Amino acid sequence: MDILKLRGISLFIVAFCSLVLALVLWQRAEKDKAKIWLGFSAFFTALYAFFCGGTYFFWNADSMASVYWYRTTWLGVFLLPSFIIFTYYFVQNLNYLKIKAFLLYLGAVIISYFALTTDFFVKFVYLKYPNISTLVGKLDFLGRLYIFICVALVLINLFKEYFKSSGFKKLQLQYFILGVAIFFITGIITTAIVPLIIGESPYYDITAYASFVWIGLTATAILKYHFLNIKIIATQFLVFIIWVVALINFITEESFRGHLLTGGSLIFMVIAGILLIKSVIKEVEQREKLEILTKDLQAANEKLIKLDKLKSEFLSFAAHQVKSPMSVVKGYATLILDGTLGLASKKIKDVAQKIKSAANRMIGLVNNLLDSRRIEEGRMEYNFEETNIVDIVKNLVEELRPLADEKKLELSFTTKEKDLRAIIDIQKFSQVIQNLIDNAIKYTSQGWVKVSVTKEDGDILIVVSDSGSGISKDLMLKIFVQFERGTFTDKTMSGTGLGLYIAKQIVLAHKGAIWAESEGDEKGSKFFVKIPAPYK
Ligand code: ADP
Repeated sequence: MDILKLRGISLFIVAFCSLVLALVLWQRAEKDKAKIWLGFSAFFTALYAFFCGGTYFFWNADSMASVYWYRTTWLGVFLLPSFIIFTYYFVQNLNYLKIKAFLLYLGAVIISYFALTTDFFVKFVYLKYPNISTLVGKLDFLGRLYIFICVALVLINLFKEYFKSSGFKKLQLQYFILGVAIFFITGIITTAIVPLIIGESPYYDITAYASFVWIGLTATAILKYHFLNIKIIATQFLVFIIWVVALINFITEESFRGHLLTGGSLIFMVIAGILLIKSVIKEVEQREKLEILTKDLQAANEKLIKLDKLKSEFLSFAAHQVKSPMSVVKGYATLILDGTLGLASKKIKDVAQKIKSAANRMIGLVNNLLDSRRIEEGRMEYNFEETNIVDIVKNLVEELRPLADEKKLELSFTTKEKDLRAIIDIQKFSQVIQNLIDNAIKYTSQGWVKVSVTKEDGDILIVVSDSGSGISKDLMLKIFVQFERGTFTDKTMSGTGLGLYIAKQIVLAHKGAIWAESEGDEKGSKFFVKIPAPYK
C-alpha cells in the first residue's frame, strides 16, 4: 500500500482514538467542567488529526482539494483555548476566565477563518515523497504566535500551581507539565524549526500524534490513575507504536496466509501490550502510594516539629509569666512571716505560711516544666564547683523540716562524715535531693523520713527513705520517665511526674546514678543517689 495512504490511515486512527477519548470524557464528566473542557481538547485533536490524515489519504496532486484538506488542519488550534480553560478549571484559578476564554476563542475563530478562506496561512501544498509539504503564507507567523501564547499560558498556570501545591496534586501536575512540554517541543520542532531550516513543512502530521499523546495522557491521569508516571507514559507510547506497526503490517499484507500471520501477531501484540501496561501500572501505583505516604508523613512530621516548637515557646513564655508574680506573692508572705511588716497574729502567720508553701509549689512546678524543656532541647547548663555535700544535704533537711512537722512526720538526718567533697552544680544537685525529700514527705502519711550521707569507696551515697505509700513493681519501672506518676485518689498528692525525670537527668550529668527500692505498696520507699567523689 502507498505510504501516503498509510500515513493517512494512522492519522485517522489517532483521530478516532481522540474522538473516543472525547466521548468518554464527556460521558463521565457529570458536572465536572475540567473534564468537559478536556473533552473539547480531545475533540479538536480528533479534528486536527482527521484533516491531517485526509490530506495524506486523499492526496491528489491536480486538485485544490488537497490544499483545502491541509488548510482545514488549522481548525486544530481550537484545542489550545479548550485546554487552557481545562487547566483553569483543573487548578481552580478562575480569575477573568470568561474574558480570557472569549478572547482566546475569538483568536482561534479568526485564525481558522483566514486559514480556511485565504492563502494567508497555507499558500500551497505539494508532494515531496513521502511527505506532503507546504508553502506557508505571510500570516503563518501569527498562527505560530497564537500557539506560543496559548502554550505559555498553560505552562504558566500549571507551574504556578505546581509551586503552590504539595503531595498528590504536585505529582499530578508534574505529569501534566511533562505532557504539555512533549507537545510543545514536538510542535515547535516539526512546525517551526524544521520549516525554518529547510524552508518547507513536511512533518506537520507529527504534531497530531504529539497532541494526542498529550491530551490522552492528561485524560488518563485524571480519569483512571490518580497520577501518572513516566514509566506508564513510556510503556503506553511504546505499546501504541507497536500496535500501529502491527496494524499497518496487517493492512499491507496481500496474501491470505500473510493476513492470517500478521492478524495473529496483531492480536497477540494487543493482548501482550494490555498485560504489559497493566503490570506496569500496578507496580507504579504501588510505588507511588508509598511515595505519597512518605511525603504525607514527612509533611505531617514537619508540622509536628513546628507545633512542638511553638508549644515549647508558649510553655516557656507562660511559665515565666507565672513565675514572676508567684515570686512576689512568696516575697510578701515571707515579709509577714518574719515580722518585717509588723507583728502578726498566729492566725495570720498560719495563712502566710500556707500562701508561701502554695507559691513555692507553683514556682517548683514552673521550674520543673522549664527544666524538662531545657533538658529535651539540650540547653540545660551546669556550673560545676567543688563543695561539701554533707552541708548541702543537712541544710536541705532543715529547710524542709516545717513540711514534715506539718504532717507530724519524724524527719532525721544521719552521717558519720563532716566533709565529703564532690564537684557539683550546687543549685541543680540541691534540686535533686530536695525533690527526693519532698516526695518522701508527700507520699508518707505517718511515720518517718530518713536522710543519710555515707562514703562508699570513691563515691558518695545519699539515701532518702520513708515509711510511706511505697511503690508497686509496675510503677517502679517508669517513675523516672517524663510525666509518669502514680494514680492517686487523694488530691493533695499533686504533681507533674517531672521531678524524678529531671533528677535522673541531673544526676547523669554529674556522672552519677539514681535508683529506687520498695518492698511494694504501703511498705515505704528508698531512693539512692550516688555521685563520684574525687577527693578522699
Ligand atoms: P510527682 O511527685 O510530681 O508525681 P515525681 O517524678 O517526683 O513526680 O515522682 C513520680 C512518681 O513516683 C510519683 O507520682 C509517685 O507515684 C512515685 N514516688 C516518688 N517518690 C515516692 C515516694 N517517696 N514514695 C512513694 N512513691 C513515690
